This record gives sequence, C-alpha cells and structure tokens, in this order.
Amino acid sequence: MSRISDRIVVATQNNGKTVEFRHAFAKLGIQVQSMADYPDLPDIVEDGSTFAENARKKARTVGEALQIPVLADDSGLCVDALEGAPGVYSARYAGEGAADADNNAKLLTALSGQRMDTTGSALPVGVEGLSPGRFVCALALYDPATGQFIEAEGTMDGIIVNKPAGEGGFGYDPLLWVPEYGKTVAQLTKDEKQQIGHRGRALSRLLSLLD
Ligand code: IMP
Repeated sequence: MSRISDRIVVATQNNGKTVEFRHAFAKLGIQVQSMADYPDLPDIVEDGSTFAENARKKARTVGEALQIPVLADDSGLCVDALEGAPGVYSARYAGEGAADADNNAKLLTALSGQRMDTTGSALPVGVEGLSPGRFVCALALYDPATGQFIEAEGTMDGIIVNKPAGEGGFGYDPLLWVPEYGKTVAQLTKDEKQQIGHRGRALSRLLSLLD
C-alpha cells in the first residue's frame, strides 16, 4: 500500500486534528474527510492495552464500514515513575468524562513525594521535576481493499513538573516541561508543538512511508 487512494477519512471527532491531517495530506494530493462527514458510524470502544492497538481498532472499524482507507490515532501521556501510567487511560485518568484539570490534579497526587535530578533542565526557581515522561501518538492507516495497515509512532519527551504553567494546548500540556525549549508544552507556540510534538512526528513518519 505505498500509494493509497486520492481520499482518506480520519477517524476523529476532533476538528483540530482533522485540520492538521488535512494540511499534511494535501501535500500528497490526498483529500481528507472526517467522521463529521459520516454521522452514522458505529461507536468505537477504545479498550486496547496499547495506543497502537486502539488506533488499529478505530481505523479498521471505520474503514470496513466505509470501504475507504481510514487513518486513526491514539495518544496519551506515559510517566516513568508511574510505570507508564496514565497511558491509554490518559483521557479518563480521573474518571470517565474527567476534565483536564481533574486529570492533572490526579497526576500530581500520584507523583507526590517523587523527585528527579533535573540538573541542566533550566527549570524556573521553585519548580521541581517529578519524573521523566512523554506524550506518545500511534497512527494507523487501514486500507480495506487489502486489509493492510501502515503504522507510525511519535513521542515528545520531557519532565513532569510540580507546578502547571502555560495557557496553550490542552490536556497535560501545562505539566510537561521540555528542557530543550525551557518551557512547558502549554508554553510552546502552535508551530513549535507541531514541529516537535508526538502527533507531528508520527505523521511525518507515516507520510514518509507513503511517499
Ligand atoms: P486522544 O488520543 O486525543 O483521545 O487523547 C487522549 C488523552 O491523552 C487526551 O485526552 C489528553 O489527556 C492526552 N493527550 C494526548 N495528546 C496530548 C497533547 O498533545 N497534550 C496534552 N495531552 C494530550
């Protein structure tokens, strides 16, 4: 499946992601539709134990229903001191339908008492590093004509800090410090986040496999 059709569907309800994917695939002359264009699709339960498993499940379910190639993503935060948690539970870490603030508060509680060596990380005075952590994004592109997947993963590494900072982004962005930029992810510009972010990295890897 080196050359997919001229049209794919992205299995997401998130308009921001659709815009990002549309922009990237336009360079290959591939038109991108979203699930908003197909309101009658079945609900998909994200019950996989890995990001890749969830992405494959979403892509295959929607691809089989529409008989069009479908791209799906799954992402989240993995924290070393919590053995990879919240991982695939990132969106619902503090419970089903939890707000970002609740998930962030639960993360800080889970990490209370943790400290890491942050020498050279340029953290502001009074801010402590609690654990290494990273955002992970898995992408799966499924072609129902062949039953095959093209897959790619991207990560953004950083340090979980004890004090949230920044107004941009969403989710756990205010708690992940990126030493190379001397900012949290919530303080990065949109361009910076797209360039070094987990989704952007996964997407450029996937596109290089299609080229
Ligand atoms: P989803 O893959 O879009 O469903 O994301 C799952 C959850 O992971 C989100 O609800 C966030 O809590 C977290 N997450 C994924 N990507 C990011 C990000 O770029 N910044 C902050 N949190 C993220």
